[in-house]
Amino acid sequence: MQQLSIQEIQNFKGKYPKQLYLLFFTEMWERFTFYGMRALLILYMTKVFHYGDAKANLIYGTQQSLIYAMMIFGGLLADKILGYRKSILWGGILMVFGSFMLAFQGEAFFYAGLATVVVGNAFFKPNISSMVGSLYANNDGRRDAGFSLFYMGINLGSILGGFLCGYIGETINWNLGFGIAGIFMIVGLLVFVKGQKSLGPVGLPPLKAGADTPSWLTRTDALIFGASICCIPLFIYMLNNFSYYPIVLNILLFGSYIYALWVSWQKGKDAFLKMVAALVLITFSILFWAFYEQGGGSLNLFTDRNVNLHFFGHILSAAALNNSINGVMIVALSPIFGILWIWLARRKREPNAAVKFALGLAQLGFGFYLMAYGAHYANSEGRIPLLIYALGYLFMTTGELCLSPIGLSVITKLSPTGIVGFMMGVWFLASAYGQYLAGYIGSLMSIPDESAGANINSLQTLGIYANGYGRIAVISVICGVVLLALSFWLKKCMEDKK
Ligand code: GLN
Repeated sequence: MQQLSIQEIQNFKGKYPKQLYLLFFTEMWERFTFYGMRALLILYMTKVFHYGDAKANLIYGTQQSLIYAMMIFGGLLADKILGYRKSILWGGILMVFGSFMLAFQGEAFFYAGLATVVVGNAFFKPNISSMVGSLYANNDGRRDAGFSLFYMGINLGSILGGFLCGYIGETINWNLGFGIAGIFMIVGLLVFVKGQKSLGPVGLPPLKAGADTPSWLTRTDALIFGASICCIPLFIYMLNNFSYYPIVLNILLFGSYIYALWVSWQKGKDAFLKMVAALVLITFSILFWAFYEQGGGSLNLFTDRNVNLHFFGHILSAAALNNSINGVMIVALSPIFGILWIWLARRKREPNAAVKFALGLAQLGFGFYLMAYGAHYANSEGRIPLLIYALGYLFMTTGELCLSPIGLSVITKLSPTGIVGFMMGVWFLASAYGQYLAGYIGSLMSIPDESAGANINSLQTLGIYANGYGRIAVISVICGVVLLALSFWLKKCMEDKK
């Protein structure tokens, strides 16, 4: 097959480039592995290792946050040396090994597996998103729609992985659940390797001076691969000593902002202004994730304690409901958002990324407002109607669709060439930071110690959650309004000046 040039790829006809489907399925299987593993972690730690809730939650939170935080290194190495494709392959291979280590019993395999998955994900996840961005020319109005579709693949993988691995892990064998997650990462890698010819030059490593074709495996590549394996013990150590983690996170965030500003400054005023806009958006995304990630934390408890789970004669499982409702809504709504963005772009009426982010924050706030407002309709057991809860999630989800895929898209657009992968890493670092803050916010909503244990008073917890979610709603909407006010200035910063 004749290799396509980058221009031929970017000048595609129709709504989506055909290479997007390859990246869609590769990422879908990677997310299957990631969410499949994640579904089992806390349960495995509490039921098999008999860790207390606090320890299990902290290890879980640190590992999840570490995964997202380390992506700046995966992105940086891909930009400078490896290229996206090799990084994805290496990351995928490590994720397979990590999952298979988790398939063995015992704490030694458990921590080694978790740490290997951190390194694997760091190489894989930012770079597959950067590759999606490379399929579009800079001013192509179809970019956000492409990322919306890609985001659907992400969530399809998360639902399938969460269900299948969760089910097999819980009902048959925990370790088998982890192993199945790894098998599907192999599927993802095979899909990618088989289809990568269609990508033409997209994702190949930067050319060395004088060379006309990139080499397949250089000595430097091998060194990086070796060094990344040597980092695994470091992450094992960090998982066991999580009190240092916030310091690491702060240094990374501060350092990456400075580095990004410095690199873009050297590329001229336009690049610098675009970078400032990107960093403002990233900063607002930290707040978004800090609220949104209550979904994996306090909202789990809220669903269990304060939502009426009766549904046509059945009682729904709180965990299953809370952990699948968002993914299902994303899959259902992503295509609609994709069509909406294209429709608006054709009429030149598409809101810019800052406005979309502001809408995202406002909708998220409204979702939390509904959760809090539901308290007025709670039954005598302190449980709010399922419908209000579902509506709350609906707005959290539409908010997510206005922010998360748009964030991926805008980062690929605003970052100067040569640091796109790194900036994608910074985008995910914001998720890591948000996740960490989410834990803190969640802890502010924990029930007082004396009522912990078997006799939880649902009316008391309802008051705590309604109060907390009410505050989140107000702050989130205020952030949205502030961003909307900034959007006029940000629009100017983001514009192509030529
Ligand atoms: N749910 C999305 C994913 O898994 C977004 C994650 C994030 O940025 N926090 O890719």
